[in-house]
Amino acid sequence: MSDGARDADVAVVGAGIIGCLVARRIVEGVPGTSVILIDRDGTGTGASRRSAGLHMPRGASIRIRDMATYSQDYYDKLRAEVHGLPIFDLGMTVVAPVAAADQLREAYLDTAAITPVERPNGIRVPDDFSAWTVNGAQYADVYGLVQAIARELRPRASIIEGVEVTGIDPYVGGVRLRLGTGETLRVGRVVLAPGPWLDSPAWHDLLAPAGIRVKRVVALHLEGPVESTDRAIVLEQEDAFLLPMIHRNHWLFSYTCQEWDVAPQSTDGLADRHLDQARQLLERYAPDFLRYRTSGRVFCDAYSPNREPVVRALTPDGRVVFAGAANGSGYRLAPAVARSAVDLLQR
Ligand SMILES: Cc1cc2nc3c(=O)[nH]c(=O)nc-3n(C[C@H](O)[C@H](O)[C@H](O)COP(=O)(O)OP(=O)(O)OC[C@H]3O[C@@H](n4cnc5c(N)ncnc54)[C@H](O)[C@@H]3O)c2cc1C
Repeated sequence: MSDGARDADVAVVGAGIIGCLVARRIVEGVPGTSVILIDRDGTGTGASRRSAGLHMPRGASIRIRDMATYSQDYYDKLRAEVHGLPIFDLGMTVVAPVAAADQLREAYLDTAAITPVERPNGIRVPDDFSAWTVNGAQYADVYGLVQAIARELRPRASIIEGVEVTGIDPYVGGVRLRLGTGETLRVGRVVLAPGPWLDSPAWHDLLAPAGIRVKRVVALHLEGPVESTDRAIVLEQEDAFLLPMIHRNHWLFSYTCQEWDVAPQSTDGLADRHLDQARQLLERYAPDFLRYRTSGRVFCDAYSPNREPVVRALTPDGRVVFAGAANGSGYRLAPAVARSAVDLLQR
């Protein structure tokens, strides 16, 4: 792939968890390929910094289950290779209607060994609901993880922070990137991993046919103490979960906020309506948690029409590839998204 007339063989635009893992996969898997990883802000400061970082060993479709399996293995290997990564093992209990038992068995990975258990302490399980335990869950401080991956990448890739990509001009045999600094970069191929920054004039038109939208994502911080033995509680029917954030010593409650077509620059923090929606769910399932002082994190993420991550070529010559829109699962599926993006790049 190398060509001395270029600044690099590949530019990865966006240094969140997905962009960093794309860059890592290229330098590890395609030796001799030069990579520039470029971000308008610092590495990991987009959706990745706000992520709850929960990995649930499940998927709504065969493709997502394959991606979850691959990604779980990838993170396990990464933890074995790189000392001290902020990825934490986690017990997980799933609360769902009894009638959903067969669906749960299908959705959770075989390795999760989903098994009925006693109703968990501190959780109000409705009468026609039951509880199951699953293996293989973990969560990460995704910002810390991105920093660790970037630290490893630095000797092998050029990382440019605080520089926005403002234009993409494909030409025969390469792609020119215009930068906010007024400079240009000439590269062989580009992977766009911009998280929820879909509206950039640089790629808005190229990406529009994919139908990706941006949804607000809200999680409350519940300032109650956590123990290392506390388990995550997944409220399957509500697409919500309680997560003991052991590394920060408080709980997090993530629920599904249905506010669409927001922009990353317009996330104004928690509002009354977010607190009301979240508290209604806590009232129903976990009223004990209502006594804790509440704050939170509000940002957004990119969602695809079929709720599966998008990895696709945006130009006829295949030199510009998009990777993202992981529907609120961009941490847990990032290794598999990166694998698909690099496979596509090499075609
Ligand atoms: C509150 C919250 C909770 C979440 N919880 C979970 C969870 O429990 N589990 C899970 O798996 N996922 C979760 N997610 C989703 C997950 O965090 C995201 O899907 C994932 O971080 C997306 O990674 P990314 O690399 O695609 O995007 P980002 O991390 O947003 O990175 C994109 C980068 O692109 C850069 N960029 C954008 N435009 C330009 C430009 N023009 N030029 C240069 N750089 C540019 C940005 O600065 C940014 O750093 C959560 C998200 C939120 C907001």
